[in-house]
Amino acid sequence: MLDSVIAIAKGMATTLKHMVKPPVTIQYPEQKRTTRARFKGRHELKRYDNGLERCIGCALCAAACPADAIFVEASENSDDNRFSPGERYASTYEINMLRCIFCGFCEDACPTQAIVLENEYELSFTDRAAAIYTKEMLIVDVPINGRATPQQVERGKFNRSIPDMENPK
Ligand code: SF4
Ligand code: SF4
Repeated sequence: MLDSVIAIAKGMATTLKHMVKPPVTIQYPEQKRTTRARFKGRHELKRYDNGLERCIGCALCAAACPADAIFVEASENSDDNRFSPGERYASTYEINMLRCIFCGFCEDACPTQAIVLENEYELSFTDRAAAIYTKEMLIVDVPINGRATPQQVERGKFNRSIPDMENPK
């Protein structure tokens, strides 16, 4: 008898303790949770401050992808028609989001920090074709002081595909 009373008292104490705690649920979609610093959401293709694309079409991301979700096709740059530094740029870049497992291996493999998994997590599709994100969907806007690509640039100024960069922190 005494054991039962103690058990009920313990149960009620637990219930009362949780009644006074703030709720852990949020009213999604009106209210959105801030993602964690290491969250891996939808990819973005980044640009340099001058507007040139970081992606050089090397396809290392596609090679590293365990789900075979990335397709890259490269084309030649010229100083009159320049998309990225160096010889080549990605003329086609696609990610099949139905295949992607958001592991981040593509980001780790990229030598120019072009592909980055950011914070967007609201991905939904009504058909399979809509799940294929193209370069136009993935690439970020041109920075305020940059120019859109392709650019006409000074001859020989951007002849290195991989500029000097700080080590990842
Ligand atoms: S996050 Fe992983 S699965 Fe998704 S595209 Fe990158 S490497 Fe492939
Ligand atoms: S995103 Fe990076 S790894 Fe992938 S093709 Fe472009 S430069 Fe190469």
